[in-house]
Amino acid sequence: MRQGWGVFRGCVIAMLALICGCSTPKPPSYTRFPQTLIPPPPATPSPAAPISTAPSGSTGPAQPPLAPESTAAAPLRPTAPPPVATPSPAPAPNDNEPWTPIALWCRSKGLPAPEIQAGSRAVKIGGITHYLGFEPTDQGGAICIHPLDRIKTFEPLTLAPTWPHPKILVLDPGHGGTHVGSRCLTGNRFEKDFTLDWALRLRPLLEAQGWTVYLTRTNDSELSLADRVLVAETQQAGLFISLHFNSSFPNTQAHGLETYCLTPCGLTSTTTRVYADDTTATFPNNQHDAGNVVLARRIHRHLLSATGTADRGIRRARFMDVLRGQNRPAVLVEGGFLSNAEESQRINTPAYRQRLAVGVARALE
Ligand SMILES: [Zn+2]
Repeated sequence: MRQGWGVFRGCVIAMLALICGCSTPKPPSYTRFPQTLIPPPPATPSPAAPISTAPSGSTGPAQPPLAPESTAAAPLRPTAPPPVATPSPAPAPNDNEPWTPIALWCRSKGLPAPEIQAGSRAVKIGGITHYLGFEPTDQGGAICIHPLDRIKTFEPLTLAPTWPHPKILVLDPGHGGTHVGSRCLTGNRFEKDFTLDWALRLRPLLEAQGWTVYLTRTNDSELSLADRVLVAETQQAGLFISLHFNSSFPNTQAHGLETYCLTPCGLTSTTTRVYADDTTATFPNNQHDAGNVVLARRIHRHLLSATGTADRGIRRARFMDVLRGQNRPAVLVEGGFLSNAEESQRINTPAYRQRLAVGVARALE
């Protein structure tokens, strides 16, 4: 186990630079997380157990959480306490459970018929793209999905959205300090500046809607991924939203909006980059699988509407440390590609970033 912590620290440090994969990362010398850190999910609910005591891996001083003016925030310790795992409330499918004829199932639940094809994990539900963990199959003319995809993607959409009480959330402007993020194709500017501007524009909109909003940073400061999670823990936030911009450089063609949440145990991730994707892994944030996808869908849908940007889908990834340790619904939004000429020009305008802020705010009304 102790050997595992060392590797895990290395992962955290490496992902400070990658954070969400906003730019094409240099492959690290390792590609797998230590398996000793990732116990298989319990077959039945069990008492909560600590998952991680790994240091933050911060290369600079930890920044205090940035509180509303009226609230004095306690300084952060430079290392994060362990997030606490609790069992997922979602039932695991029986191995023998048949795949679900999804059009029929949606009709029985009052959901619109999905746009879905055998062999493609991209499915449109109500016009919004979601990525499944398994490829759908054609069984006698009916498109069927894996029961875990039904449980983790479709069933949450039948739930009425609810907000935490009290309405406290953390906005996380990605990167900062020497971790500049992706470079904008047009103009000598970096992702860290755009994410901060997005968050600063969004905060007053959310406050006007009754939210208490904390930012992980309000200036060009540098903090670890673990300390970003710690801000949410310290402030007992009910939601966590990490703000980023994408890059596929030197490919300049990719464009559009992506919204990420943590991959549920048992499913294959949409995006893995250079990392291993252990489908048996479970993390503290997996207790919020349903809340994650509901939050992701609301934000993604309203961002598409507010900006007119292309829909690259609600995706799942397992390597994002800023999501894995969250004890609350948490998503990471990629607000467009800085490596695409047209999109980078738009991101470089205050008007577009204001639309991004309005989109997230409308999702949380
Ligand atoms: Zn980023």
